[in-house]
Amino acid sequence: MGLPVNVTLACPSCDRPSKAPVDQPGDWQCYACDHRLRLSAADKSLPICVVCGNHELYKKKDFPQWLGGTILLTAILLSTITYYSYEKWWSWSFLIGSAIIDGAMYLLVGDVVVCYRCEAHYRGFTATDAHKPFEIAIGERYRQERMRKEQMKADSAGKASPS
Ligand SMILES: [Zn+2]
Ligand SMILES: [Zn+2]
Repeated sequence: MGLPVNVTLACPSCDRPSKAPVDQPGDWQCYACDHRLRLSAADKSLPICVVCGNHELYKKKDFPQWLGGTILLTAILLSTITYYSYEKWWSWSFLIGSAIIDGAMYLLVGDVVVCYRCEAHYRGFTATDAHKPFEIAIGERYRQERMRKEQMKADSAGKASPS
């Protein structure tokens, strides 16, 4: 048995986040708006996004950003307090300690593969060389595509129900 492979996706229709297993093909249904998707089983090397069929995916560390920030903030706080009240050795050890914890967590947490287009998050996969870290230029291209789509949605909604 390998790691459970699953995808966290936003419903294409109502944007509610949801989770689905992708080790075998299956039907996914949004619990909020009943939107249905047919998900095919994801290939181990994950060449395309099974949610939207997009072939551009990037990898990133599955590291919650708030956690890293909290560790650093706590360390700075502790080292500032100890700097004034105790010995400076303590301040240094807090700062160095937090850097070590940070580094260890970075190694411990796995990769998550993310679709540029629909931002589906794939977990339980081993990122391959085909998955590059996030590139701003590509991300920008998809961001603009999303904005265009949303604009179109808003336009058609405005036409459908003039208020
Ligand atoms: Zn939905
Ligand atoms: Zn996608």
